[in-house]
Formats: sequence, structure tokens, C-alpha cells
Amino acid sequence: MNIQNNISLRAYNTFHMDVRAEHFASFDSTDELLSLLQMPIITQQPLLILGGGSNVLFTRDVAGSVLKNNIKGIEKVDEDDQYYFIKAGAGENWHSFVMYCVEQGYAGIENLALIPGSVGASPMQNIGAYGVEIKDVFHSLEAIHIKDGHSSIFTANDCEFGYRESVFKNKYKKTYVIASVTYRLAKKPSFVISYGAIEQQLEKMQVKELSLHSVAQAVMAIRQSKLPDPLVLGNAGSFFKNPTIPAEQYHSLKENFSSLVAYEQPNSQFKLAAGWLIEQCGWKGFRKGDAGCHSQQALVLVNHGKATGAQIYQLSEEIIQSVTSKFGVVLEREVNIY
Ligand code: FAD
Ligand code: NAP
Repeated sequence: MNIQNNISLRAYNTFHMDVRAEHFASFDSTDELLSLLQMPIITQQPLLILGGGSNVLFTRDVAGSVLKNNIKGIEKVDEDDQYYFIKAGAGENWHSFVMYCVEQGYAGIENLALIPGSVGASPMQNIGAYGVEIKDVFHSLEAIHIKDGHSSIFTANDCEFGYRESVFKNKYKKTYVIASVTYRLAKKPSFVISYGAIEQQLEKMQVKELSLHSVAQAVMAIRQSKLPDPLVLGNAGSFFKNPTIPAEQYHSLKENFSSLVAYEQPNSQFKLAAGWLIEQCGWKGFRKGDAGCHSQQALVLVNHGKATGAQIYQLSEEIIQSVTSKFGVVLEREVNIY
């Protein structure tokens, strides 16, 4: 729980931005966190909680303190006829947690294999991939109020989960530290394989009988074939959200752009594939200096080496402008900007 000063955050964010934090400390337990939250050096300045740093873009040095969540531990806290209730410390690595659940036969998060980051950040934007979002299997979380150290339990309703959204990304941003999350995982799997290329991948792998393991392996294989590994090429995954537009706007766009990629939503809205919109504006594979747009997925902005956060941000600004002027759709950033 040693507080360090003027520390480079390069190793703590997957964009590899070499910005500095005025103060930096990590905590392994809620007791350590509570001690830190009482120290004047921490309380009198801005505070940023960090997990794996895979959904942040640092555009400048961070004033105040960065606290890295290292709370570990996975336990089965309850079970009934249908479900296991599995509680994990916020500092557990998300992918390791998924694979642990797969090995134990706890079903529901196998489609979320290989998403970088920590368990504690998973509710922040209701992480999702391949037709599954954590809200589908979420039971509750424990969060500590940054100002008064009070601990609260949030249910799924309290979290107000939406598409890559929750209260923690909005009205409670910088208000709570998520300390642990409890998931409600099924004893009997309901496989979700109709999304994206999962079925084809399972065929390619000659899987005869579905299992949690085979679905996770298929998802991992697809992701590895398409997405840049942050260890090799700095990035924070999808930089923008897929925009949702009213049916009327969708139909008029479809008339002008017949190959528009869109998915109808239950509320008669249409979700557009932001990657397609960006690609149509000519950005796929674009590179200016070390800031670029990934050559296989235009939704992912990348740092080829020495790009600054400000350069990546500027690129995102230009992308938003060109998509707005071509399609009349304003992209929203998914990555948290600091
Ligand atoms: P960080 O980047 O450390 O933090 C993100 C935000 O949450 C920050 O604002 C931070 O202050 C806050 N925060 C973090 N931990 C806590 C806590 N314990 N308490 C309170 N606030 C906290 N996302 C998806 O949804 N689906 C995907 O398929 C997906 N694929 C990705 C692929 C790649 C290659 C990459 C690089 C990213 C991808 N992401 C994806 C984005 C990212 O991995 C997730 O959003 C992940 O949950 C972020 O976790 P983290 O621990 O790295 O969060
Ligand atoms: P993809 O399979 O090429 O699909 C492109 C987009 O179309 C996706 O964003 C997805 O939306 C949507 N889509 C595809 N099939 C769909 C269906 N059957 N019903 C509704 N929407 C559908 O996308 P990809 O880039 O390779 O990513 C695959 C999955 O991993 C996606 O779910 C994506 O969200 C997730 N992912 C997320 C991040 C991140 O940082 N957030 C990074 C990499 C991958 P959705 O995004 O809404 O699913």
C-alpha cells in the first residue's frame, strides 16, 4: 500500500500511453482501500480507480492519485436448483475468471472469453460480446463510496445497465469503487452461438458436441484472428459505440446505402455497425504518425508506438466528423477519456 509519486502509467494502460500520475498506489483488500481513502494526500485531490486499463485513453498526465484495484478471490457463495452464485474480487482478471467458471461448469459467460481487464470493471459498461452482456448473468456487486467509505450492495436494477452503460459510467462516475461482483451462473448451459462467426468457427474446429469449453475456445479463436493484441499493438478495443437510430432514419439511410450493416432492436430501433460506417469513410487501416485505425476492424483505434493520447483523441474527432457528414449519425466514444 505504498504510495509512489510521479509514476509512469505506461504499463497500466493497454494504449501504452506514457503519462504520469502524481500519486499511485494499489490495494489488495477493502481494508487497504479504506485506509487509502482516509489519507489527506488521496482525499484532497482527484482520484482515479484503475483496473486493467483496457478501456481508458490518457490524453495528459493525471493530477491527483491513481489507485489500482488488486482485490482477489473467487468463491461460490450460494446455489439453488438452477444457479451457482459466484463472487469474485474486483481485481481478478476477467478472462481468467471466465476460464475458471468454464472449468467448473458455471455457465453464462463463456461468450465473454478473452475480454481484457478486471472483474471490477465488468459492470462499468455492462461488457458484452457475441450476443451476451454481463447484465444477463449479474446478481449484485459491493461498492465502497469514495467520500465516506460506506459499503453498499447494488442489484442489477440499481446498476441501470444499458448498451455499454451503467450508473457507474454516468451518474455515479468517480463516486464508488467496485470491490466485488457476484454472478448468477447456470447449472445447465443455454448456448448462444447464432451471433457473428461462432457457428462457422465451431464447424471449423469440428466440434461435435457443444460445451462451455468449446464455445469459449471458438470465441477466443475468432477474437485472436480479428482483434489486435494490446501487448503487441496498443489499443482499447472498440473506440466507439454502435449507434442506435430510429426506424425512419434507418430506412432513409438504407435507400442511399444499400449495403448498410444494421440490426433491428426490440424497441423498433436499429443498431448500426459503427465499424462499417467508419470503413465507408475510408479510415480502415489509416495511419498518421503512430495514431491509426486498425486494418481489420475500423472500430479499433491503435497506437503503433509513440502516438500520444491527444493524437488518438484528435483522430477520433476527425472520424466522428466524417461519419456525421456522410451519414448524419454522430458516433459516441466508448472508451473513457482522461
Ligand atoms: P479500466 O480500463 O481500468 O477502467 C475502465 C473504467 O472503469 C475507468 O473509468 C475506471 O476508472 C473504471 N473502473 C475500473 N475498475 C473500477 C472499479 N473497481 N471500481 C470503480 N471504477 C472502476 N469491452 C466489451 O464490452 N466487450 C468486448 O468484447 C471488449 N473487447 C475488448 C478487446 C480489446 C482488445 C480491448 C483492449 C478492450 C476490449 N473491451 C471490450 C474493453 C475493455 O476490455 C472492457 O471495458 C473492460 O471491462 C475494461 O476493464 P479494465 O479493468 O481494463 O477497466
Ligand atoms: P462483428 O462480429 O464483425 O459484428 C459487427 C457489429 O455488428 C458488432 O459490433 C455487433 O454489435 C453487431 N452484430 C453482429 N452480429 C449481430 C447479431 N447477430 N445481432 C446483433 N448485432 C450483431 O464484430 P467484432 O468487431 O468482430 O466483435 C465481435 C463481438 O465482440 C461484438 O459483440 C463486439 O461488441 C465485441 N467486441 C467489443 C469490443 C469493445 O471494446 N467493446 C472490442 C472487440 C469486440 P455488438 O457490438 O452490439 O455486439
